[in-house]
Amino acid sequence: IMPNSTGSATCWRPLPAETEKIMNAEKNKVVTFHYNLKNADGNPMESSREQEPMTYLHGFNAIIPGLEKAIEGHAVGDEFSVTVEPEDAYGIRNEKNIQRIPLKRLKGIGKVQVGQVLNLQTSEGQVQVTVLKVGRFNVDVDGNHPLAGQQLTFEIEIMDMRDATEEELKHGHVHGPGGHQH
Ligand code: ZN
Repeated sequence: IMPNSTGSATCWRPLPAETEKIMNAEKNKVVTFHYNLKNADGNPMESSREQEPMTYLHGFNAIIPGLEKAIEGHAVGDEFSVTVEPEDAYGIRNEKNIQRIPLKRLKGIGKVQVGQVLNLQTSEGQVQVTVLKVGRFNVDVDGNHPLAGQQLTFEIEIMDMRDATEEELKHGHVHGPGGHQH
């Protein structure tokens, strides 16, 4: 081994170990996650664990804003829990969405029962309502989302992540498993 002209030994730096590039949730990523949902009393409301995990396109308002904000920056394998206020979840309740409608408008639906969820055709398209009260001639229905006004706690596990395809970005939604089939 020859010393170089200045006399200093050549310093061999080991190549940096190949680091695995970690993908983090951000706009234009397709994110797949499992969740358990609890209400403010800690009662379980819903879980994806009994079915397929949820898949969505990040940055396109595909899921409630509070949840998307919480997932931002996370990577596959991350587990965390987040509590979301109604304003960042399904909104606050609006009492104006409780309406009395004539029973005869519900012809063809059959016997209407309290707690039943109905899809009503309105001038603004189809609206989902919950039956509050059934009278002789009228029915009181609540057009608020069932989770409106509720503080929600999600336990999240990020299962999978990938870049969205150009086609998915153009459509603004996920294709394939967990997404649109077309
Ligand atoms: Zn599409």
